Amino acid sequence: MLLLISGPSGAGKSTFTQALLESAEDVEFSVSTTTRKIRGGEEEGVQYNFVDDAEFDDLIAADAFVEYADVHKFRYGTRKEHIAKMVGAGKIPLLDLDVQGGHNVIDIYGDELVSVFIYPPSWEVLEQRLRGRGTDSDEVIQTRMENARWEISFAEKYDYFILNDDLDKALVKMKAILIAERCRRIRHSEFPLK
Ligand code: ADP
Ligand code: 5GP
Repeated sequence: MLLLISGPSGAGKSTFTQALLESAEDVEFSVSTTTRKIRGGEEEGVQYNFVDDAEFDDLIAADAFVEYADVHKFRYGTRKEHIAKMVGAGKIPLLDLDVQGGHNVIDIYGDELVSVFIYPPSWEVLEQRLRGRGTDSDEVIQTRMENARWEISFAEKYDYFILNDDLDKALVKMKAILIAERCRRIRHSEFPLK
């Protein structure tokens, strides 16, 4: 089983996934590869593997990605070997992907993947969160608000919708989804009792 989380920038995906990773021990973050520059507070190999354009091209040529996409002017991709390693270790890889990557992995993995779309409570709150985060200029916030309407139009392909109003309540819903998904017949290679 794999877990996909998408939603517009500022909806609270990072906050939500961080809290989930702290409390669900079999869930492991899938570290993507990106051409974006490393930000203060980030560490190579923790949030991302940071590479330059030539290295990203080499990875594409080597067929190293499950999916990759252009997001906010940089490239981001999910590495096949990372997913295989986590699945081999019995972990649930948590993929935090943009909606293009999200749609690709929904098509690739089918029922193996549980997809969750995180909604902000309203457009006003989304803008407040983007401003409150204090990381983006007015211009960037404007672009993200415009992109958010486009991103939300991809939501209908996802299995679950979670409104990230109150973080604790959103996490309770996520944990309930994981519990139910683990019980599904298709997650069992054999019957518990014959
Ligand atoms: P994303 O990863 O989707 O871009 P972030 O996790 O960076 O979003 O969250 C954007 C801002 O909103 C951050 O300042 C974060 O602290 C805040 N935030 C996230 N979830 C909530 C919530 N449930 N209630 C209030 N503020 C939140
Ligand atoms: P940021 O640079 O702010 O960390 O992330 C920007 C966006 O890239 C987020 O929407 C995040 O979900 C998306 N993203 C991160 N890794 C990947 C990836 O491997 N593939 C795709 N398609 N999107 C990704």
